[in-house]
Amino acid sequence: MRKDTDVAVIGSGFSAVALALNLVELAPPTARVSLVGARQRQGRGIAYATTADCHRLNVPAGRMSLFADRPEHFTRWLGENGHAATADDFVPRGLYGDYVGDCLDAALKRTANRAALSLVDAEALRAQALADGGLLFQLSDGSELAAGISALCTGAGTGRLPLPDEAIADAARPFLVQNPWAEEWRDRVPEDGDVLFVGAGLTMVDQCLLLMRTGFRGTVHAVSRHGLLPEAHLARRADPLPPVLEPGRGAVSEMLATLRAAAAATPDWRAAMDGLRPVTQQLWKGLTLEQQRRFLRHAAPFWNVHRHRMAPDVAAEIATLRKTGRLVVHRGRLQALRRDEGVVVAAVQGRALPVALVINCTGFERCTVAASPLLSSLAAQGIVEPDPVGFGIAVDDGSVVPASEGRLFALGPLTAGRHFEITAVPDIRVQARDIASRIAAGVAA
Ligand SMILES: Cc1cc2nc3c(=O)[nH]c(=O)nc-3n(C[C@H](O)[C@H](O)[C@H](O)COP(=O)(O)OP(=O)(O)OC[C@H]3O[C@@H](n4cnc5c(N)ncnc54)[C@H](O)[C@@H]3O)c2cc1C
Repeated sequence: MRKDTDVAVIGSGFSAVALALNLVELAPPTARVSLVGARQRQGRGIAYATTADCHRLNVPAGRMSLFADRPEHFTRWLGENGHAATADDFVPRGLYGDYVGDCLDAALKRTANRAALSLVDAEALRAQALADGGLLFQLSDGSELAAGISALCTGAGTGRLPLPDEAIADAARPFLVQNPWAEEWRDRVPEDGDVLFVGAGLTMVDQCLLLMRTGFRGTVHAVSRHGLLPEAHLARRADPLPPVLEPGRGAVSEMLATLRAAAAATPDWRAAMDGLRPVTQQLWKGLTLEQQRRFLRHAAPFWNVHRHRMAPDVAAEIATLRKTGRLVVHRGRLQALRRDEGVVVAAVQGRALPVALVINCTGFERCTVAASPLLSSLAAQGIVEPDPVGFGIAVDDGSVVPASEGRLFALGPLTAGRHFEITAVPDIRVQARDIASRIAAGVAA
């Protein structure tokens, strides 16, 4: 069966719902908008699907409204729904998923003088170009959807283990967890066995806190290239400093030196980092491709731990786990995995760590076109291509896929090659509004 729509929004995470809600507000009332993705995950994606109370937002509630122009939207929802939280609180992420879900439900009900939003509970498996410039999507329920304008909100996916396949012994493979979000691996950890988390970022922090709540008595080892953990938010946030860097000025090393100096000169370095937020995307775009690659090679790990921070009570719990030896962070590279005498032996920078399970916590940073059947089908027709730094797909400044003549957009982490900082809600909501107004103009035309 084939259906037609004016706009197809593909995905089921925050980006897809943020775009759909803005389209309902901005598109002409005659427009039909179809949101294509798994119904029960709508608005949650990986980030907000968790129901664990220890999985906190890493941005204060006051900055997590779905709409940049209505900053109190989320905190008001919290109050109206009986949650005693202030704008400075780091509330559970599951609660945020409830908020996004509620906003979506409300938009599905409103019809008078609004564009019509409908949900399609399916995965978009493939797409092909139509003669009129639109796309025809083949869906997992066997139906087809023809769209005049489309937006890809399919997320970044999960990172791959930084280890060549030949360095993993066959006997060790059953004890390697590739996707910590999807696999029920905690039931397989012996109470007093040890585990190794590969990666020491926010994904590791989430998984570590949850494991500690299962009665686990062993030690968590975490390994990362620089042995760095995310920094902590302070309970009281300092006002951001005006930006200390100017877009398009200076080499990467000079810019970092300026940032370090500004951070050292304030009582709380976070004020210097937070002050950069409004200009970060311009700073990235002001670098040459070679400078961007150099930044990613040398500075990105340091940038990430200062920029994407832990909520204060999460940081306190992690500090206690480190102090008591329950969490040990190793600096270095994972080099090989083998199986020996009933355990997995992980070679980490010349050291041998015997563990029961190895969990890939390298995060969700990279999306490969090859990992998505939908993106692969678009790439095979020359419609999308990977961006030059390998974060996702190439888009222009307006998040338009260049070969699509304004008919295909992409949002969120998928567009990090162009925009760099486009993974957190305060950035994606601005992008969603901008794309919705472009699409609305396209539909009206
Ligand atoms: C663990 C974690 C915690 C985070 N915490 C915060 C936070 O506290 N504050 C903050 O501001 N940001 C946070 N972020 C970042 C941020 O909110 C996410 O980057 C954002 O949710 C990205 O949304 P997305 O919709 O682009 O991608 P995703 O959340 O990855 O969602 C994409 C969805 O689309 C679906 N999909 C993929 N392909 C198809 C297809 N072909 N057809 C249909 N559906 C498809 C996927 O199954 C997935 O559900 C966090 C991220 C993570 C991973």
